[in-house]
Amino acid sequence: MDQVTGLRCRECGREFPVEALHVCDFCFGPLEVAYDYEAIAATVTRERIAAGPRSIWRYRDLLPVDDAAPVDLGAGFTPLVRADRLAAELGLGELWIKDDTANPTGSFKDRVVSVALTKARELGFKVAACASTGNLANSVAAHAARAGMASVVLIPSDLEAAKITMTSVYGGTVVAVDGTYDDVNRLCAELTSEHPTWAFVNVNVRTFYAEGSKTLAFEVAEQLGWQAPDHVVVPIASGSQLTKVAKGFAELGRVGLLGEVPSVRISGAQAAGCSPVATAFAEGTDAIRPVKPSTIAKSLSIGNPADGWYALQAIRESGGACAAVTDDEIVEGIRLLARTEGIFAETAGGVTIATLAKLAAQGVVRRDERVVALVTGHGLKTVEALAGVVRPTVTIAPTLDAFDAAVGSLSGLDGASGAPGAADPVPSTVTPAATTQEEPTR
Ligand SMILES: *Cc1c(COP(=O)(O)O)cnc(C)c1O
Ligand SMILES: [Zn+2]
Repeated sequence: MDQVTGLRCRECGREFPVEALHVCDFCFGPLEVAYDYEAIAATVTRERIAAGPRSIWRYRDLLPVDDAAPVDLGAGFTPLVRADRLAAELGLGELWIKDDTANPTGSFKDRVVSVALTKARELGFKVAACASTGNLANSVAAHAARAGMASVVLIPSDLEAAKITMTSVYGGTVVAVDGTYDDVNRLCAELTSEHPTWAFVNVNVRTFYAEGSKTLAFEVAEQLGWQAPDHVVVPIASGSQLTKVAKGFAELGRVGLLGEVPSVRISGAQAAGCSPVATAFAEGTDAIRPVKPSTIAKSLSIGNPADGWYALQAIRESGGACAAVTDDEIVEGIRLLARTEGIFAETAGGVTIATLAKLAAQGVVRRDERVVALVTGHGLKTVEALAGVVRPTVTIAPTLDAFDAAVGSLSGLDGASGAPGAADPVPSTVTPAATTQEEPTR
């Protein structure tokens, strides 16, 4: 099916052919993929989607690709988990976690990279490149390996160890740059003109890359039985994901997969150490002032977000909010999600959960809403964030006496107070001494 009509400038509306273009050469506005929604509506059905692969590629009719085989490691169709225990802690009613830790390289970036490299290969590119805060690097290196493409990945040199390893292992060229992400990104923009034959997934093929985030909205709706949620909480780095989640829900309405164009409130989540969008929201201005990031949420550390303004508009138009949380709150958010739902998220997930908690406490996210929180990356990628915070409850000699002496004294582990199915059989007081300052026992 030929579902794409071209690229369109988000500012002046001028149309461009489907090429590796990302800015309007008339007004410098960003370009967006334009679709023939009538043609899509005439073809796409819930049954056609259900018969597709269990990946983002079941939504191929709404993605900007031709019929070629995708560059695919199986991104998408991640679990949507009903989170009643977390909801109870936050005073919410119906809460769901979209668990994107389950993607092939452990983050939502697999969605955007799978689309970007599929399109890049279609357009004849042989080299995949990017500037990354970490997760994009992991995903580009992995998908390039899968596609047999060369890769050149640029990252800030102070990234978490796991993210550096998870990029380098795939055998591409990994360039660690002594600078912030914004420095790396600027360098990448210069390299794009030097190397026009390289597909920079978040620069010259960004228009296609961004569309991959729509699949989060598609999946959430399908997994809710083709219903839209009332409120979605989305972390913000460049702001691309948030704008495309909004676009995704709107498209489902336009092509007839939901009864009507749904009204979904979209709220944004940032770290206080890098919160240009949340600050603009709080001040009620349109101007996003760039910042120099300083937070443990490195995957969200974009001080000058390319789509920040559009994210802000999407938040306001939807009736959502945007808030920021401290590094301590991020760590608490990670632990809360792990403790209540068994999902271990990276710092970006901590940002989402802590922001959800804050917005729930303020009454912005409401008890009568069906809420979805996007948990976008796996906790093993950022174990540094928990160093000294979580550790074994006790360390003992390998004897029954030692066990009884140490663990027998902990209340709540035996039948009387912890019958199967009873809430919280392990009281939070015995979780690894969170409030003390001791070093972890290893
Ligand atoms: C990149 C990233 C985001 C945000 O993506 P943007 O589209 O740049 O706003 C969120 N979570 C994780 C884990 C990421 O790696
Ligand atoms: Zn324009």
